Amino acid sequence: MNTIGIIGSGAGCIAILKSLCKHNVCNLKICIFSEDHSQVGYAYKKAPDFFIMNTRLDSLTQFDEIISVQKWLQSHNYFFSDDDYIPRSVYGKYLQDVKEILFLQLENNSCVLELIEKADYIDNAGKIVSDGKKYNVDTTIVSIGFGSDLLNDRLFSAIQSCDSSRPIKIYGSGLTAIDLILYAHSMHPNTSIECVSYSGRFPRVRSQFKSGEGSLFEGFSTGNFGLSNIIKNFNSLLKDDIEKSIIYDEKFSLIDEIRYCESNIPEWQKVIYSSTPSYCKVYQSLRKKEQLLIHKIKSQIIENRAMFPLKNARKVWNLINNKQLKISKGYYSGEPSTGNEFLAFNTTKTTPFLTFSKLPKHDITGVNVDNNCKVIDSRNIYCLGPLTNGSRFFTEATSLTVRDASIIVDNILMQHGHI
Ligand SMILES: Cc1cc2nc3c(=O)[nH]c(=O)nc-3n(C[C@H](O)[C@H](O)[C@H](O)COP(=O)(O)OP(=O)(O)OC[C@H]3O[C@@H](n4cnc5c(N)ncnc54)[C@H](O)[C@@H]3O)c2cc1C
Repeated sequence: MNTIGIIGSGAGCIAILKSLCKHNVCNLKICIFSEDHSQVGYAYKKAPDFFIMNTRLDSLTQFDEIISVQKWLQSHNYFFSDDDYIPRSVYGKYLQDVKEILFLQLENNSCVLELIEKADYIDNAGKIVSDGKKYNVDTTIVSIGFGSDLLNDRLFSAIQSCDSSRPIKIYGSGLTAIDLILYAHSMHPNTSIECVSYSGRFPRVRSQFKSGEGSLFEGFSTGNFGLSNIIKNFNSLLKDDIEKSIIYDEKFSLIDEIRYCESNIPEWQKVIYSSTPSYCKVYQSLRKKEQLLIHKIKSQIIENRAMFPLKNARKVWNLINNKQLKISKGYYSGEPSTGNEFLAFNTTKTTPFLTFSKLPKHDITGVNVDNNCKVIDSRNIYCLGPLTNGSRFFTEATSLTVRDASIIVDNILMQHGHI
């Protein structure tokens, strides 16, 4: 019996299991390593209900063939509309049920599942080491998200116990910063919050569009996805001066953006969103210089791509309007925190697991993998999700992690005929 080791038990792991089931794989031993088998990854763990998905309910279809998310919600007495953004912890509970069904399907196919503590590292011979014990596997798949959990319990208790007579300062203004602002406000409703970031602006507000129409890369063929063409195409989608200002004027006010997105569905939003599945192909066909440039301006791109739902935008605006929140331009200097300062972005470049496993680094960022997510190394290791950003870019969406998982399983099956 062959053995496959999966490190991490989040969406990536579930997507690997789904692909194995789809191929009717049998007689396989699957060792899953995780520090907590009752959670399904950093994004979808137990958390307050106001930590919501940034993906609309009707786009959460990745695991519908196992259980339809809509039916699951109804049967668990959750009632949301198609255009709603469900709490991430609710999606986590759904994923946990999906995982359990997949376990059963695999066991019915004579597969053996072993749930093991977290992995400490992969040794030079490709064995997975956990708590001093070495596990022999034929193939390892590393799916540990960003490798560390930014929104961790230590951070939450530090926010809870901070001095509420002084302002709370949050560095960063992305989706994580929005979670932290809402969390800090729920803990200290009378304390003012200052948000400081490079751009001094929150991400774009997402209008009520449905996914699935158009592509930013339409008409391009392999080899001519130049960055300037892509930007030109994007700019041509901006309908009028208001849309141009929403994108390019950093002083454009949040309330005007909210009002515009309440009554309009900007074409650029639909297109930039539905282009997501092509990001990897396009990124890989860019010249190295352009790939580097894209990484340099990544936060600006993400501010436009990772739009935040109107629902949260209104909450954030209410805080600004009530003078409880202000946002400004500034830099995190790395000075010691006063106890009331919190980081909403990850400063760690690697994790002990990656360092001890000696996984090859991509010269831009992350682990170096080929087009099939196979680590460029003599060991039989695959890596997916955000860890592979330098080679595959823009993997921070569950849909892309799921796509990578299917590429990995197809590749393993193609190489071995079976696993
Ligand atoms: C806060 C947040 C919100 C997000 N919201 C959305 C969203 O709304 N929509 C969307 O499409 N995408 C979202 N994403 C992105 C999405 O979560 C990821 O792209 C995707 O889920 C990654 O899946 P994963 O299994 O690789 O990692 P994760 O789901 O992060 O899981 C990583 C797992 O690895 C485990 N782990 C870590 N180190 C080890 C080790 N050494 N040994 C064993 N296990 C280990 C962790 O405990 C965890 O279970 C969000 C991400 C974050 C962080």
